[in-house]
Amino acid sequence: MRRAYIAGNWKMNHTPSEAKKFASELKRALEENKIDCRVMVAPSFVDLPYVIEVLKDTEITVSAQNMANHTSGAYTGEVSPIMLKDIGVYTTILGHSERRMYYSETDEIINSKVRLALNEKMEVILCIGETLEERESGKLKEVLKRQIEKGLEGVKSDEMKAITLAYEPVWAIGTGKTASPEDADEAQGYARSVVESLYSKDIAENLIIQYGGSVKASNVKALMAKENVDGALVGGASLTIDQFLPIITFNK
Ligand code: PEP
Repeated sequence: MRRAYIAGNWKMNHTPSEAKKFASELKRALEENKIDCRVMVAPSFVDLPYVIEVLKDTEITVSAQNMANHTSGAYTGEVSPIMLKDIGVYTTILGHSERRMYYSETDEIINSKVRLALNEKMEVILCIGETLEERESGKLKEVLKRQIEKGLEGVKSDEMKAITLAYEPVWAIGTGKTASPEDADEAQGYARSVVESLYSKDIAENLIIQYGGSVKASNVKALMAKENVDGALVGGASLTIDQFLPIITFNK
């Protein structure tokens, strides 16, 4: 039985004072509503200590959006997993398509981050997903297979419990276009089968696979009703309580 896992990726939004205010609203909403799923938020690096302080007595996971592939040293502008853990962050998103696209993160770089995070006993949400061009040229499966195989290279079976996959078709991120629940289910079912072939049926069946790409209150239920959709990675609609609360209470 896979527990639903809804994550909010704040991207480069919310100043520390805005983040603190929003985290307090989220905390209050959690006290006033019954939430059946696991909830995570991923603020920017500078927001993290403030959000952790506000959410410390709650069950909300606070995650980084990215991390360096080194633990320390001469890497100007980078943030290491050791630094994250020191402030109480034990989860990170890796391989988001914006990192792949705008910061040239390759499957190899992403894999080195995945392995380092696991080595540091952190949890990872590994993002995968095709561009519109790749989908339209029939390369969906090829892309997902490559991203999973390369992203998880060297990851041992017993480390897979710290991995969540997020299937995020690039053409659906921040565009208002959502993959249909059927498309998401099909792609995620395929991703699960790749994990099964790399590991085992048991590991694949226990793996949480989130869908990401313009998830909102109006489509979350239909997406979550699908067999292979175990959660959501939400960008734009995770930034205000009015939009995020209906998503994290989708199963009420
Ligand atoms: C994301 O950032 O991972 C994302 C899916 O964004 P949005 O929900 O805004 O499409």
